[in-house]
Amino acid sequence: MLQSRLLFSSGQNPQNVSAENLIKGIQLSSGKDMHNNKLFYEQMVNFFDNKNTRVLKDLRDTTDRMPTDYQDSHFYNMIAESFSVLKETAETKQIKFAHRNVVAKPVPVFGTFDMESLSTFLVVDDQTPAIIFSNGLLKFTQRILEIIIKEQFLRDKNMLTDQDKESFAKNFIDVMISFHLFHDAYYAIPLDLCNTDDLDSLDDSDEAANQIEAMPDCLFSREYIELHLDISDATYLWMAAHEYAHLVLDHPSSAAQTSEEIAGVDVAQIEYTWQQEYDADLLGAMFVMNSHLSYIGAYGIYAALSVLLFGCYSETAGTTSHPPMRTRIDNLLGYLQGFEFQLKHYREIDRILAPKFICYQHFIDYLGTERLEKLSLKEIQEELYQKIDLL
Ligand SMILES: [Zn+2]
Repeated sequence: MLQSRLLFSSGQNPQNVSAENLIKGIQLSSGKDMHNNKLFYEQMVNFFDNKNTRVLKDLRDTTDRMPTDYQDSHFYNMIAESFSVLKETAETKQIKFAHRNVVAKPVPVFGTFDMESLSTFLVVDDQTPAIIFSNGLLKFTQRILEIIIKEQFLRDKNMLTDQDKESFAKNFIDVMISFHLFHDAYYAIPLDLCNTDDLDSLDDSDEAANQIEAMPDCLFSREYIELHLDISDATYLWMAAHEYAHLVLDHPSSAAQTSEEIAGVDVAQIEYTWQQEYDADLLGAMFVMNSHLSYIGAYGIYAALSVLLFGCYSETAGTTSHPPMRTRIDNLLGYLQGFEFQLKHYREIDRILAPKFICYQHFIDYLGTERLEKLSLKEIQEELYQKIDLL
């Protein structure tokens, strides 16, 4: 979605490779995918001593649903849900784009994969499309969303304390540093655990589990959990909808190509025009606002845009394939502002994230470029959680 568009090159790969095999090939050849289902499944089989537990059955069912064993099953399920909503929306709602009726396309083969770029789109054969989503982007999204939704919920309930605000700001910085410097938001300390004075205790999972109570009780309420699910569903729905919109609008057939290698697999990169990106953003938003998630849709879309903004904040001028995020956001606002009842709410996201981004920049300045390069993530987290007062 954000950086590169990849197209399997038939010139470099004489055999006709199926989309599933292509995804599997890329996943296997990466050799560093920490989140893959197969690994997790094997760990769980050992953990449960190969007894036939519910957890193992659920994992097995998920594995059967995926085209390969080598993806993140949690995110795979989320994207699978999104595509089924998209297909239904495209088939049942009469959406018009540029004065034409939108016609549904089959759901493409898709996968999740650990890579440093934010998201990738693959096409086999120019005919059978396959989309690969970056685990890095999905994880980063999950972590930033958690901060947004928790702070919003506590503020709406008049329960947001200074201590919560400080935790959220520190966690935002941690997530940004883990993602931008250590290439994986997964390394950030879980938000519910970051109030601790003893970071070493986080290495001990029993000790860490006992500390979850540091967060207010209402964040474990059904009301909060449902809000979280609704907003995150809408956010991931827009991300899938953007890619689906490229397909529906037939963009791959007119895009330029250059060759590239990803995880040892030869592919050809295709680059959409900036206008095609704007169009995919807009039609993606129209899909979300016409789906059953429309009541929370603008909030979810704006959350997704904000996540992307902070995920590529260094590329203020845009890249060859993508316009600057600010311009993409401004471009979509014209559409989103039509949903006035949601306007007030999605603007809250700026109020939550903008000050935290300033804190992040201050913290980076405080560490200094030279020290930053020498410090491990754990040392940075020690500075962040134990020495810095952000209020
Ligand atoms: Zn795109």
